[in-house]
Amino acid sequence: MLRVEYREGLYLPDIDLWLDADGPRDRCVISHAHSDHIAEHRAIVSTPETARIFQHRRGEAEIETLRYFERRDYGRYALTLIPAGHCLGSAMILVEADGERLVYTGDFKLRPNVVAETAVIVPCDTLVTESTFGEPLYRFPPDVVTAERLYAAVDRALSDDRVPVVLAYALGKSQEALELLLRRGYRVALHGSVWNVTEIYRELGVEFSGAYEKYDRERLKGRVLITPPGCRKQPMVQNIERRYIIMLTGWALSKSAPYMYKDVDLVLPLSDHADFDDLVRLARESGAGRIITMHGAPKFAAHLRDMGFVAEHLAHHPGSTKGAKKQAPKKASNAIAQTLFD
Ligand SMILES: [Zn+2]
Repeated sequence: MLRVEYREGLYLPDIDLWLDADGPRDRCVISHAHSDHIAEHRAIVSTPETARIFQHRRGEAEIETLRYFERRDYGRYALTLIPAGHCLGSAMILVEADGERLVYTGDFKLRPNVVAETAVIVPCDTLVTESTFGEPLYRFPPDVVTAERLYAAVDRALSDDRVPVVLAYALGKSQEALELLLRRGYRVALHGSVWNVTEIYRELGVEFSGAYEKYDRERLKGRVLITPPGCRKQPMVQNIERRYIIMLTGWALSKSAPYMYKDVDLVLPLSDHADFDDLVRLARESGAGRIITMHGAPKFAAHLRDMGFVAEHLAHHPGSTKGAKKQAPKKASNAIAQTLFD
């Protein structure tokens, strides 16, 4: 069986392959372009969409692209990228080596994504899965229910002459929120960073259900503003006298959400990650005989073992001090940290 290590990124020492390393590497396969999954590598392998967003966020790198389901043989191993449903171009990474099939999920969501490819589950022997919401507490209501709550809140705010401000990461969540709002006919203004990524989505062929505008301080009346979560403390949001702030995050179901989001008017559980049930569903439907959890609740592996799976949480490599330090605040169910990076 392939050895799997965490050393500031996922590393398969038997075939010398890096996946989503968070420090610069000579060559790295990238699942998607969120800031905690990329670094300034010399060369990357990714989907064309992720490569385009990587260039926008990190600049130059030697780029090799693989379309979904295009299998490429590298001699000691073969790679195939599978839709992950997390954001445009996001991929699960299938590695085939020595007769073993290993899938690394990166971040994923099984529910349909209104502006990205829907995730596909492929069979494997070893599953290395994120476990961000790996606690039974995190069972998200149907997305249509959450969307209706969003629309009702926006309607209330607008009729009260307030500006609804929707907080969502610049890559992925913002475009989902935008599409949901456009489908209901709202006029939407976008923070510059959201605008930039949204234009890349359009360039890559995503068709939104209406027009949208770039943020203009003088033209907010009657519009919904989408900004990254960190902006809520900045003048751009703070200077909107009559504002109504709505945060979209799976952490809405956390017991500490009222404390963590006390400066937000409403927190809705719309996530671009799998909830607990979908994490378990992926584990089951992959048919994997070995499951390794990472990027989230270590307890999830124990939940899986209780259900009869062979599962363990991926510990940090002893030499991986940077990863150990970074991992703790960034990934370990720390909802505030989750909202800060995009
Ligand atoms: Zn992500």
